[in-house]
Amino acid sequence: MSKSQEQLVAKVHTQREINGGCHCQAVKFSATVAADTTVLHCNCSICSMSGFQHLIVKHKNFKLLSGNKELRTYQFNTGQAKHLFCGICGVKAFYQPRSHADSWSINTHCIIDFKAAEWDHQDFDGQNWQQAHRKL
Ligand SMILES: [Zn+2]
Repeated sequence: MSKSQEQLVAKVHTQREINGGCHCQAVKFSATVAADTTVLHCNCSICSMSGFQHLIVKHKNFKLLSGNKELRTYQFNTGQAKHLFCGICGVKAFYQPRSHADSWSINTHCIIDFKAAEWDHQDFDGQNWQQAHRKL
């Protein structure tokens, strides 16, 4: 096997395909995520209320399969984050976070067969956002 083939195989093995969506299944997505991606547990006002746990996925590795026209946007504070939720069932399956402008944040609770034990986890102190963001 050539060096480039070996690298390709290694890359394939460190990527995970995930699928998910909202409760009513109007919104559906698939994404490719590096297996060593850390799930972020944030304590900010909105994440603590909704129990959102973050899996950060580059925009280019995410595909919205359905539900574009059902998505509604909620914004507060700096308005940089775009909290997208399904207009039918109200579930926020993914959104545009302020912390990663080039990525979506997927709600791990909305991923099909998500096994939390297979991922690394880290607390994100969203109540002290500036400090927490510098440490990422
Ligand atoms: Zn829905």
